[in-house]
Amino acid sequence: MGEGKKILIIEDEEKIARFVELELLHEGYRTDKAYNGREGLEKALNGENDLILLDVMLPELNGLEVLRRLRKSSEVPVILLTARDAVMDKVSGLDSGADDYITKPFAIEELLARIRVALKRKGADNKEEETVLEACGVTLADERHEVKVCKETVELTHREYELLKALLLNKNIVMDREKLLNIVCGYDYGGETNLIDVYVRYLRGKIDDRFGIKLIHTVRGVGYVIKE
Ligand code: CA
Repeated sequence: MGEGKKILIIEDEEKIARFVELELLHEGYRTDKAYNGREGLEKALNGENDLILLDVMLPELNGLEVLRRLRKSSEVPVILLTARDAVMDKVSGLDSGADDYITKPFAIEELLARIRVALKRKGADNKEEETVLEACGVTLADERHEVKVCKETVELTHREYELLKALLLNKNIVMDREKLLNIVCGYDYGGETNLIDVYVRYLRGKIDDRFGIKLIHTVRGVGYVIKE
């Protein structure tokens, strides 16, 4: 079901717009409508829509022009409603940044399916942007440079952070001290590998000991591993 996602319908044929709106409301979506390109673009740019259904043949500003202007500032999913056999519209529509198109007349079930796919794809993209490494209740959100243990933020120094990240990226793989030293201190460091033992001790103090968990395991004579 729609889960309250908002869909903007830009369509000058009011009958079609109303029909689609009723079906969307029935599916649990919220809706908004515009009957020409100019009004449509204005509403499309308000940032409140999760997806836009955009007719190509529109008065005042055609759908492709609406799409081109919208794409300058917005990545909101757009499904084009094109006339039958308007191959050029489909091609230039996809070139202009449409996520999908559907040919009129369409079966409402097909439209609903396309909407679900476009919304899902967008959700998946968002997840990809946010890389979160996780093990034993410890999360590392790399974009935000944030480490949490049991949902509580933990402050780490740069090298502690890099060490934890390297171990989380290689979860269940034993990392030897030299490899870790290269990652944490850089290849030209050339220092003692037991420096890694020092940073592991700091990390254990801030995470394992403080929260009573067993995150970093020692593999005697080799190095360290985060197991799950
Ligand atoms: Ca039209």
